[in-house]
Amino acid sequence: MPKTSLHAANLAANARHNAVGTMTLDPTPSGIAIVLARMASALHWYLDHRDSQSVTAFGYQATVGRLYVARNGQLTAGTLNARIAQAARHAGIDFADMLDWGNGGELLIEPVIVNVNATFGETDVWHAEMMIMRHIMQEGLAKQSLRWVAIGASSVCCVNCSGWMSKYAVHHAPPAQRGDAPTRSWRHPSSQTVTAYGQGGVEYYLARGQQSLGVT
Ligand SMILES: [Zn+2]
Repeated sequence: MPKTSLHAANLAANARHNAVGTMTLDPTPSGIAIVLARMASALHWYLDHRDSQSVTAFGYQATVGRLYVARNGQLTAGTLNARIAQAARHAGIDFADMLDWGNGGELLIEPVIVNVNATFGETDVWHAEMMIMRHIMQEGLAKQSLRWVAIGASSVCCVNCSGWMSKYAVHHAPPAQRGDAPTRSWRHPSSQTVTAYGQGGVEYYLARGQQSLGVT
């Protein structure tokens, strides 16, 4: 529900940040998130030579056996599948470990790879983890089934991403620590509202079809 005051936006943000670390971690899926994070790091830093201005994330949805990749910046599609296979090797990953989790994996030899950037459009203000979450929800996965998703990122997830994913029991790595400072701006994966932070908490809030609250 879009907020109508900065105060309400701050309360929502605080609730999200406080959700960090509350997720019950089942050892197997969180192991998958760690594996995905290793692979995201290999693709981001080692193979694509990107810097800390952007983040690469992998997601795995166990109910359909799909592997998602997203970057909040340029992600060249050319040779992507080959680079992912290379990243997996570099990170010492066996896809079979992932495919054992959930219902969708049994018949698959390797996951179907989905390049989220190919259909996402503007990636500005989006965090890579939330691009994947939005894409998966747009494919029709209900929020109560998001526990069948694991996300791994090339940098530590921020408190907003980590808090939101914890709320929906999305296994993710590396998770934020409670009390981490939020990044400057963040976009909510379902409402697409933009929240920007300053010293005093939420200083700017923009919901679709509404006037912005505060100033950037
Ligand atoms: Zn984030």
